[in-house]
Amino acid sequence: MVLGRYLCRLKLFGLSPCPVNDTVLGQCLWRLKTDQGMISAISTLNLIGVRSSLSGSKTNPESQHHAEKDVLKMLRETGAVLEGHFKLSSGRHSDFYIQCALALQHPEVGEALGRSLAALYATGVKSGGADSPVDVVIGPALGGILVSYEVARALGVRSLFAERQGTELTLRRGFAMKRGERVLVVEDVITTGGSVREVISLVRDAEAVVVGVGCIVDRSGGRGRFDVPVFSLVSVEARDYDPVSCPLCAMGIPLTKPGSRPDAV
Ligand SMILES: [Zn+2]
Repeated sequence: MVLGRYLCRLKLFGLSPCPVNDTVLGQCLWRLKTDQGMISAISTLNLIGVRSSLSGSKTNPESQHHAEKDVLKMLRETGAVLEGHFKLSSGRHSDFYIQCALALQHPEVGEALGRSLAALYATGVKSGGADSPVDVVIGPALGGILVSYEVARALGVRSLFAERQGTELTLRRGFAMKRGERVLVVEDVITTGGSVREVISLVRDAEAVVVGVGCIVDRSGGRGRFDVPVFSLVSVEARDYDPVSCPLCAMGIPLTKPGSRPDAV
C-alpha cells in the first residue's frame, strides 16, 4: 500500500526511470516520507530553470534532466528549499534559499548525494570533460564538509576540509596535501564561488592539482566559473538583489541570514 502511494506520487511528478534514479537516488527516494503539503507550498518558487551542468562533458541530456529533477525533488521533500527573504553569503538578498544541511541531516540522503556526485564526476572523466584519478576530496567548512566527505567515501579516497581562521580558509587539525596529489573540491551550494576559489588557491599553494569542482546545487547563474571542470547535481537560476534596491527590503519582510559565515563578503 505504501509502495503504491509512492508509485502514484512519482507518476504525479512525471518521473520516469533513469540510471541514477534506479540506483542511488531512487533507493533514497523510496525511503523518504514525502510531505505533500511542503511540495505544494514551495511550488510557487522562482525557479526559472533547471538545466544540465557538467561543463565540457557529453552526458545524455535527457538522463541528466531526470537526475536533476530527482535531486530537486529530494531537496524539496527534506525541506531544504526555503522561501522568504535571505541574505546570501555574497551579501545579496534573495527570496529563495537552499539549506542543504536540512537534506544532509538524513545520512542516507547525504550518502546518496555523495555517490551521485562521484558518479557524475566519473561520467565526466569517461567523456573527457574531467580528469582522473582523485587522491583527495576537500570541501570548505561548514557547508562543504558533509557532502565532500560522502563524495570521498564513494570514491574511496581521503577527505579534508578547510576552515576559517580569521577571514582566511586554512587547513588545520594536521590536514595536509602532498605535492602533486590530485584534489577534487566539493561544496554544497555554489552562489558566487568565493569559498571554492579560496579552496582552489589553498590546494595550489600546497602544489597539489585541482582536478575539478563539484556541488549539489549551482545557483551561480554563470558567476561560479573556474578554470577546472565544474559539475553539479542540480543547477537553478534564482533571482537575487542588491540590498540597496531589494524589493523584499522595500516590503519590510524580515531578513534571515541562513549561512554559516559571520560576515558577508
Ligand atoms: Zn532585501
